[in-house]
Amino acid sequence: MSQEYQWPIYGHKNQLKFLQETVSQHKLANTYLFYGPAGLGKKTIVDYFIKSIFCLDNKIKPCGQCDNCRMISKGIFLDIHKVGDREDLGVDNIREFLHKISMSNFRSTHKIAVIYGTETINLFSANALLKTLEEPTINTTIILIADTIVNLPATIISRAQLIKFQPLKRGDMLAWLKNYDFSDQEKETIINLSFGRPGVALRLMGDKMENFKKSSNFILKMLSGGTFYYMQTLDKWFEVLKKEYPGYKLSELGNLTKEYLDLFEVFLRDILWAKLERPIINQMYDKEINSLATKFNKQSLIDNLLSLNKTKEKLNYNISPQLLWENLFLNME
Ligand SMILES: [Zn+2]
Repeated sequence: MSQEYQWPIYGHKNQLKFLQETVSQHKLANTYLFYGPAGLGKKTIVDYFIKSIFCLDNKIKPCGQCDNCRMISKGIFLDIHKVGDREDLGVDNIREFLHKISMSNFRSTHKIAVIYGTETINLFSANALLKTLEEPTINTTIILIADTIVNLPATIISRAQLIKFQPLKRGDMLAWLKNYDFSDQEKETIINLSFGRPGVALRLMGDKMENFKKSSNFILKMLSGGTFYYMQTLDKWFEVLKKEYPGYKLSELGNLTKEYLDLFEVFLRDILWAKLERPIINQMYDKEINSLATKFNKQSLIDNLLSLNKTKEKLNYNISPQLLWENLFLNME
């Protein structure tokens, strides 16, 4: 029987098709690794994947009406286990989690275990996890979600069915943005600055672009301030962050830092472009950008862009974001 899938997801066509066929054919792998930059909707897709696996309706998946769909929505479905969304992936948490899964009884046909933020896993946790992956239990599927796999042991990657996610194309972003009430100019800015990642776009958009304006003003202040001012602003910024994220979770802070660095790169690039009298991306701030273009020389802008890119690479290695920023600004001219 052919099933209709109702997943309100934009882009990722091939990945969705693959996952939906897996559900239709009841051919779940023991381990999946969903990976790709933060903000692409991996978590949402995993949610719809899992719901569709358990949904009892034969036509529309997930139907949202059957007993399983309802229990999953309420978070009381007993065959779904999750770790890493709130707690860290230290070895004690991972061991406890894996033990819990192995001991729990089946209430339905499958057990699904989801591990969020797998990119933050340490060697001890990875080894504990590997033991479980090496001895798969029948009808138990482990879904690993990671923003990047550069730090994951090859032994884990090789045991998983890899599902790679890439930034959305312009057309998909535009289709998605139709759901929101923004002007064409604002939509262009959002598309240019979110780099095909709806999660990032959502944060930029906030309440009438409030977050975007906040981040932009922060970056503009730093750009026009000088090193001492950077440091002061940075300290304040991290104070605010620590309040917003009481657990001070490196992965969340890392993602936020990455977004700021991306936006920062756009500003630097635009200043360089303005200097070369080429069209800039960030039209909403063209006045400020043109004024900054008179303050920087071309070579220092290029050097700063290179230094920024090196900093972005380091973010993948779980270095403290605060340290990264400090180093970046000390190296900037
Ligand atoms: Zn259902």
